[in-house]
Amino acid sequence: MIMIMKNRKKTTTDLSAKHFSRYGEFLVSFELSKHGWNIYDPVYDEYIDLIIHKHVCEECGKNWNLTPVLVCKKCGKDFSKSLKKDIVAKKICQDCKNEMIGNKTKCAKCQSENLINHPSCDKCDGEVEMIDHSCKCGSKKYITKFRTIQVKSSRIEHGDGKSKNTYAVDMKPRDLIKDESHFYIWCLLDDKDHPHFLVLSVKDFIKVMGDSLKGISFFKDQDRQHFSSRDFGKWREFLDKFDKLE
Ligand SMILES: [Zn+2]
Ligand SMILES: [Zn+2]
Ligand SMILES: [Zn+2]
Repeated sequence: MIMIMKNRKKTTTDLSAKHFSRYGEFLVSFELSKHGWNIYDPVYDEYIDLIIHKHVCEECGKNWNLTPVLVCKKCGKDFSKSLKKDIVAKKICQDCKNEMIGNKTKCAKCQSENLINHPSCDKCDGEVEMIDHSCKCGSKKYITKFRTIQVKSSRIEHGDGKSKNTYAVDMKPRDLIKDESHFYIWCLLDDKDHPHFLVLSVKDFIKVMGDSLKGISFFKDQDRQHFSSRDFGKWREFLDKFDKLE
């Protein structure tokens, strides 16, 4: 019997409440990465758990790469990723036009020190230049987005050793940061430890809560949203709504 206990596979129920809450923040972070966000962790917890940020094309919304690209002017070969070692270190003497490869400081022909760098393509000898990223759609403009996120995590509630088939999320007046850039992500772990994400704005929350937002229990920090783990109840419309962050 002891052996069986020892070998039992661990689940999120083995985490303390504090560690579980952190676990949820990480799951949300990984999920946000899939949607192209960069994630930052505030030094102090002031009801904002994550700051997220991305650059996207102003025209088509595709993710934007801010690092410049290294390409051959002549044949278009892209050296940006891992091929930098293939860039030929060519120097040209300004006085006699002699071309040399390698780390020269003087012209081998005329001894002039008037050399200019000419990074060259290993394929066609064309000049490699650094150009700013432009989108495949043709746009040269990008926008920067910042969002703040509060994460709340819940496992399925159990009572008397039985599943209640509900999740529970504690919401308090201090969570109502009324900023257009602020969002809640509720990370809900089912009994197989699979996460489900509800993404909602502060406005969405206020709208769904309706009059219960003025309720005494909410004012007293005693409000707990219980909802079905099967269909997410009245919060269902926010399932996987990561588009709301865009
Ligand atoms: Zn674009
Ligand atoms: Zn080339
Ligand atoms: Zn020379």
